[in-house]
Amino acid sequence: MKGNSALVKLSIIIMILVTVASFVLSVFIVLLIPLAITALISAIFVSVYQIYCYYYFKSNKFLLIRSTIQKYVDNCNELNNHINDLKSSYINISSYDYGNGELNDKSKFNFKRKEWQKNTHNHQVHYCSASICKNASNQPMKYLCKYFNITSDESSLINFESVLNDFAAAQQGKELLWNERDSILNSIRNSVPRLILKFSKDKVIRKLGFEAYDFSDLYFPVYTFQYVSAGGNSSFKFDIQLNIENLETLIFYLNDLVKFRNSIKGQRALMTSELREKIKNRDNYCCKKCSISISDEKNLLLEIDHIIPLSKGGVTTEENLQTLCWRCNRTKGSKMEFSNFN
Ligand SMILES: [Zn+2]
Repeated sequence: MKGNSALVKLSIIIMILVTVASFVLSVFIVLLIPLAITALISAIFVSVYQIYCYYYFKSNKFLLIRSTIQKYVDNCNELNNHINDLKSSYINISSYDYGNGELNDKSKFNFKRKEWQKNTHNHQVHYCSASICKNASNQPMKYLCKYFNITSDESSLINFESVLNDFAAAQQGKELLWNERDSILNSIRNSVPRLILKFSKDKVIRKLGFEAYDFSDLYFPVYTFQYVSAGGNSSFKFDIQLNIENLETLIFYLNDLVKFRNSIKGQRALMTSELREKIKNRDNYCCKKCSISISDEKNLLLEIDHIIPLSKGGVTTEENLQTLCWRCNRTKGSKMEFSNFN
């Protein structure tokens, strides 16, 4: 009898094992095999597509499209270089060099002053007390000038107006460049295979010869008021980004102070977005040098130029301002040279 019951137990165990094994096997068949097949098929598709792409971009058909639009692409790339120059306008305003030092934290493990370690040697970061940081957020322009050595005089005002003029042109240029690239791509939409346009648009853009354009706003300088507690364990900060809007506010702020001190110089116009639009409108959105207008070229970047440059004593008045296309303004060169804030 004993032998029989052991046999029953053994056969039960075997039955359970067989059931589990067949269950696992069926799961494997039902789920994994189709997955593996799908993966294999998609891998084949991807490889075939890559080979197709490789030969398409080398084909005469594509090379012909590229050569047809070459000059428009070159124009876009040149405009992009120009925009990059405009963006770097601010770098020319140098600040004081206070020199660098090294902060060594010798604290024991649990007392590491984490926040102090974030200390950066950046002249656009001002380390200050909590109250200065809070007050700066209430009166940004006042504190920006005071703690970053921006003097409220005519030359400082002119510097920031030039930066605003360049930044405003850069912002508009980015938009026009985007539109221009889009319209070029639209013009070849029917010549390039749909599949390639759908899955490899970036590659098409690259292969057509467009350089990598940076449409971000990261070039706007940022000034930071940084508070770090004495213990080095807590901190907060206030950032002022000198974007178009804040640059205009800063210019109005500086202008009020300059006006207060020197009423004659304060009478001139300010290089604001409103004035820029007014001059373009007066000149019928037409370049005063080569006469090209936005009706000749839809995405034409027009800029505002000082007829007598600021560096040669020219002033921002409507009579001394003219509309130039970016190409004429670029060749005119001799942009005003910046000195220190002072
Ligand atoms: Zn022109």
